[in-house]
Amino acid sequence: MKTGFDPRMVRQDFPFFSSREQPYHYLDNAATAQMHAAAFEAMHRHDLENRANVMRGNHRLAERATTAYESARQVVARFINAAHASEIVFTGGTTAAINLVAASLGSQWKPGDEVVVSQAEHHSNLLPWQALQARGIVLRVLPLQVDGCLETEALATLIGPRCKLVAVTHASNVTGAVTDVAAVVAAARQVGAWVLLDGAQRVQHGPLDVQALGCDFYAFSGHKCFGPSGIGVLWGQAAWLDRMPPFLRGGGMVGRVEPDQADWAPAPRRFEAGTPPITQAVGLAAVLEALMQWDWDAVHAHEAALQQLLLQGLQALPGLRLLGPVDGTARLPLASFSLAELHPHDLCQVLDGQGVAVRGGHHCAQPLMAHFGVEASVRASLACYNDRSDVDALLAGLVHAREVLA
Ligand code: PLP
Repeated sequence: MKTGFDPRMVRQDFPFFSSREQPYHYLDNAATAQMHAAAFEAMHRHDLENRANVMRGNHRLAERATTAYESARQVVARFINAAHASEIVFTGGTTAAINLVAASLGSQWKPGDEVVVSQAEHHSNLLPWQALQARGIVLRVLPLQVDGCLETEALATLIGPRCKLVAVTHASNVTGAVTDVAAVVAAARQVGAWVLLDGAQRVQHGPLDVQALGCDFYAFSGHKCFGPSGIGVLWGQAAWLDRMPPFLRGGGMVGRVEPDQADWAPAPRRFEAGTPPITQAVGLAAVLEALMQWDWDAVHAHEAALQQLLLQGLQALPGLRLLGPVDGTARLPLASFSLAELHPHDLCQVLDGQGVAVRGGHHCAQPLMAHFGVEASVRASLACYNDRSDVDALLAGLVHAREVLA
């Protein structure tokens, strides 16, 4: 049963806020969100009581650690509505998950086969596919609308019969725009291509349903959804994962090994060579359990109200240029912008002095920044625990920054 969500209370679940002597307005949640108490506690308890390697030992600690690790897989499966826990591969993060798919699938593709990405991708969902060009794989790039949203109407012409996979972001880390996944999946299916969604940004904003999304692969990171860093998830349809060769090779992912050959354990173990991020998996599961208790309609209403305040406040500042859609397109509660001729790094520094943390730079999305004709921008990204005081502090900080820097 849901316990409801009270925006004023939620900060109590995040030790970060009680550990500050001065108020600090953390608006860099798209880079890394603060960690939920459930993750701190679960990881501490696990390392105190059950610390051992997994799937290798017969003593009681090893068995408990293995049970905890496999239970974490089940929690992740529930959070994203995967058909089965065996479809969950633990990785080091979104980047590692996408590299895994690119290297594994790419090794099976032939020269002339194609992969489609968009110009709005984070480098983590671009460079792994670029690397395949060395093997003759053709990279096709979906153009963008003026506001940075994917030009989904161009999909029909861009996705040809040799297209093997379409890899796009579920939501942009620069504009916050949420991708029209149904349009992407429909276009890919026309030619039997698979779809990978980069869910790094979307996952912070509530449980997912990968089956309803209709994609084939979904990747996300623990540190973006109030969990620990050093862990991420690759979800893949079981039938596909079982057909894919491993990416990393080593302990724990084999069937039988002889001096000159080996065969592989079934997925997901085949993709988890070496000691996996056990404690982090336990922490991630604990936070996802907590998130599944929240009233997400209430969270989304809170985030939407804050987002409106943020966008309106920013647009009222003379000389401010907002990047991304402002026409009602579904978007996450974040905003990237430039202010007059002021350099984003200078703005971030002055804002930090005012107790406001935002990100400045190219946000690992240089092709998207080029689309907007800028090198860098400031990004303010809101999470459920932010409130009006954070938005007000940002807006006041920007007014102050302009006075200081002009
Ligand atoms: N994809 C998107 C859209 C992101 O925003 C990020 C991180 O900011 C990543 C991928 C990479 O995530 P990680 O660094 O956790 O692997």
